Amino acid sequence: MGPQTGTIVVVEDDPHIADLIDMYLRRDGHRVIQANQGEAGLHAVEREKPRLVILDVGLPGPIDGFEVCRRLRASSSVPVMMLTARDDEIDRVLGFELGADDYVTKPFSPRELAARVKAIIRRVEGPPPDKPAVFQAGAVDVDTGRREARVAGRVVPLATREFDLLAHFALNRGLALSRQQLLDGVWGMGWYGDERTVDVHVGQLRKKLGDALPLTTVWGVGYRLD
Ligand code: CA
Repeated sequence: MGPQTGTIVVVEDDPHIADLIDMYLRRDGHRVIQANQGEAGLHAVEREKPRLVILDVGLPGPIDGFEVCRRLRASSSVPVMMLTARDDEIDRVLGFELGADDYVTKPFSPRELAARVKAIIRRVEGPPPDKPAVFQAGAVDVDTGRREARVAGRVVPLATREFDLLAHFALNRGLALSRQQLLDGVWGMGWYGDERTVDVHVGQLRKKLGDALPLTTVWGVGYRLD
């Protein structure tokens, strides 16, 4: 089994969405099991021991996606990505409180969803044991073991949150991340700060790392590490 492959359970009642997700994940080498109701999803997870679960919030039948997530977390630490119908603060907060690892708002690009699946697996499972936990961010070596950023072998001193933000970009390379997603991922869900906090820290990273860090501002979205 390759580092990004394995079984993924998709719990989604809309067959078009489920098939689209299925197609993109298979393309990346995953085996996909579909379930169209909460109970069926729970059984599939129990049976298949998947590497990740994609879980729609709005499901028919007695239990919705939130309840499925809650029951999963009672017995399993499998990564969960929730699909929410709208960018609803309550859904987002509740999902994270129940132990979801990430969320995507409908309508979503299947390409982005597939990239997020890779990112979650990287984040949750960490690097393979035979590899050091050093990620590339352009010309910057991001050493998550030593918590050091190095350019051409020279350590660039960063504040704690600056390093966390840099590591988060390195783990989600190629993905456009909104300021809210960065706040959630770096500062955590209990932190209700201003989104400008992200801009301030990005400004510091750019100042300290300069051209070594290929960080692009994505207009109307946030930032992307190329
Ligand atoms: Ca649904």
